[in-house]
Parts: sequence; structure tokens; C-alpha cells
Amino acid sequence: MDVRITVETIFEDGKTRKHALGTWSRPFRKMSGEAIGLMLEDAKTILAQLQKAIVQDQVEKMSQACRPCPGCGRVRRIHDYRSRTLDTMFGRITARAPRIKLCLCQADTNGRIGSPLSPLSYFLPDRATPELQRLQAELASRHSFREAARPMNTFLPCQVQSHVTTRNRFGRVAEKLEPSLSCSKPETSETSQESGPANVFLDGAHIRCRPEYQKRHLDVVVGRIETTTGSRRFGFVESASPSSSRQISEDLAAAGWRPGDQITVFSDGEPALVNYVKRAVDQPVRHILDWWHISMRIRHVENATVGLAQACCGRKDADDLPWLAERIRWLVWHGQLRRALAAIQTLKHTSRRFEDQSRPQIGSSIRKVTARCDALETYLRNNERSAPNYAKRYRVGLPISSSRAEGCVDDIANTRMGKRRRMRWSPRGAHRVALTRAAVLDGRLKVSHRQTAA
Ligand SMILES: [Zn+2]
Repeated sequence: MDVRITVETIFEDGKTRKHALGTWSRPFRKMSGEAIGLMLEDAKTILAQLQKAIVQDQVEKMSQACRPCPGCGRVRRIHDYRSRTLDTMFGRITARAPRIKLCLCQADTNGRIGSPLSPLSYFLPDRATPELQRLQAELASRHSFREAARPMNTFLPCQVQSHVTTRNRFGRVAEKLEPSLSCSKPETSETSQESGPANVFLDGAHIRCRPEYQKRHLDVVVGRIETTTGSRRFGFVESASPSSSRQISEDLAAAGWRPGDQITVFSDGEPALVNYVKRAVDQPVRHILDWWHISMRIRHVENATVGLAQACCGRKDADDLPWLAERIRWLVWHGQLRRALAAIQTLKHTSRRFEDQSRPQIGSSIRKVTARCDALETYLRNNERSAPNYAKRYRVGLPISSSRAEGCVDDIANTRMGKRRRMRWSPRGAHRVALTRAAVLDGRLKVSHRQTAA
């Protein structure tokens, strides 16, 4: 049995053209499992032939459609023909494309007309289809450039992809995702007319830095913006970003936030993180300290008091110590920071009363309690204004922690650049990965590409 495939193109004017894609032999007499249906290599050949037929017809029609002058309507002359290679998902195609001479009606004041117009390079300036670039960027933001090229070479009839091509195309896609520094106002998406308060969850990730940058780690800032109308992830490396505040303000606008609306930032208390948002929006920003980070520090105090109570067993009043630590937790949870700070002092005083020269173990337990109380006190004093009534927020369903940003740390930074992957990064490279990865996770890569290709 032989299978012959022919495709027919029907043009707008009703004319048709047939392309023979080839004949595949499927002998049923010497049948083996391998000979049933199409093999991957056959499918790749068919797809490549089909793509070639379609693109060649399209280029021909596109060149004809570009002939009339948009100014006066006269048919413009063809300057010459150039063969252009074009990378697509389904193979590299060399098309014979004309260059069209510009019309005299479009000459400048000195009577000069510009260089000939090439319709193909106008639509595809990178000599690759946007879909191919998008797929390469998507894979490269998840895997190493070599690994990213491998599945494409296996499953697609595209030109054999080297890691260098993948890296270059990835870089170009990442550049397009960079905030537009030229226009003064961030573009607002027309689809989301409604605006509302925004919650920004921020966190940082440390990744290994390449040795020539003279530092061990790079800080990648990742975050998630949530508004009533949508959410958006973002990531950047401050030292490599042309403008991190521009990027945040564009992301806020895209998520449906408008200047004047309330904005709340959740972080672990690292001042630099909140300052990124403060710089991006020209208005007061409310900062809320992540409850989980406070809770961990209180847990340290609680554990130390339990240790002390156990060390001075036999003394009845020592049983009250864990209760004092629990009280600190209750007070902070209910936003009573002044009273919580007083309770920390009380706990430190009370624990010192158990000092006993004959039992050195008690002395070390007391020092532990004091040290952990001091750490908690400093942390709370530094973030005094950022600790709300967590209990009240929790009851009404408002966020109290930056845990949503921590999910982003894994998705945006650690998947590709985590310490386990043993790669070292330049600030620029890490910034590109963070940008692209956030766009891939939000499903923005497709959309932004459609816009740039239009
Ligand atoms: Zn003209």
C-alpha cells in the first residue's frame, strides 16, 4: 500500500495550485509494529513539506499584495529578487522574495526615495516565526540552552537548533519583555476598565553568581501582584534591570491598579523590597510584615522558655514561663505591639529570677531566652509600623503573609537558577530568565508576541 499526499492551495481569486508532498510506502504484507501508521520521521517530513508549500504560496501572494503604492495606488516596480531563509517550527525555508522599489510620490523634499521594501523582512525581522521564538524562549527559561534545544530537535522538523541559537533567540524575546522606557506613561490595558486596591507580595531569592562579578550571590527579586481584576507575577535583578520601578509600575497597571488606589506590600521586613514598590508608585504604600516570619521568631522564644522550664524542674513558678511566651504570641497576633514589647521585658525579668549558681545549665538556658527575646524585640521595633491586627485581618479573609511570593521564588527563580542546578549566573542572564519565566507562568509570552508581530 502506498500513500500519496497532495495539497491544494485555493487563492482569493479562486485559482488553485497543487503541491505533491510525496509518497509513503506502507506494505501491509511485511507488516511489523513499526510499519503501522506514520513514524515520527515521516510525520516530520510531511510537516516540513506542507510548511514549505504554504509559505511559498503565502510569500508570493504577500509580495503581490504589497505592490500597489499606499499613497497613489500605482503598481510599484520590483527592484530585485533575494532569497531569504526563514526559520519556522516546521523547517527552515528558503523563499525567493522580491524587493519593491518605493514610489516617487513618497520621495522626500530632496527628491530621494528610500531603499527598496522587503515585505518578508518587514513581517519577520528576526528571520524566524514568532511562534518558534516563543517556544525556544519558553523552553530556555525552564531548562539549560542545550537541554532546551534537544526536545525541539527530537519532535519538530525545524532546523537543528544549537544552544547558541536558543540563547540568542531567548535573549531577544526577553528584551521585548523589558519595560518600554521611551513612553512617559505606563500603558493601561483596555480590557480591564475596573480598578481597585492592589496587594503586592514580595520576596527575594539568592542564586550563584559568576566569579568575574566578585560576589558569591545575586539577589533576584520576585513578586506577585493581586488586584480584584487579575494577578501578575514579576521578577528582576536590580543591577541588570534598566528600570525596576518602571517594570513594577507597568505590571501594576497591567494587573488593573490605577494611581490613587490603595496599595499594600507584604514582605519579610527587608526594607529594600518595600522600597522598590515605593519608588515605583508616587504615593504612600502600606507595608505589612509577613506573619510567618514573626511567628517563627516567637516560636524560637517559646522553645527557649520550655527549655528553661525543664532545666529548673522542681520550681513551681517555672511552669508559668511558657505561658508568658504564649502571651507574646497572642498580643502580636492581635496587633498590640506595645504590650507585646512590655511582655518581652517581663519574660526576660522573670527568667533572670531563676538564676542559680549551683546549676550552670539553668544559666545557659536563661541566656538563650534573653538572646531570643532580644532578637524578637529588635525585629518588632524595626517593623513597628508594619504589624497590623493579624487576627482581625485573618477573620475577614485578608492576606497576612507573603507566602504567595514564596511560591513565585520557586517558580521564577529556583526552577532554572536554583542552587541545585549548579549553574552560575551573570546579573543580565539571571534578569532575562526572571523576566521570561514570569511571562511564561502568566501566559503573557504568547500575547506580547502577537502584539509585537502585528
Ligand atoms: Zn505612489
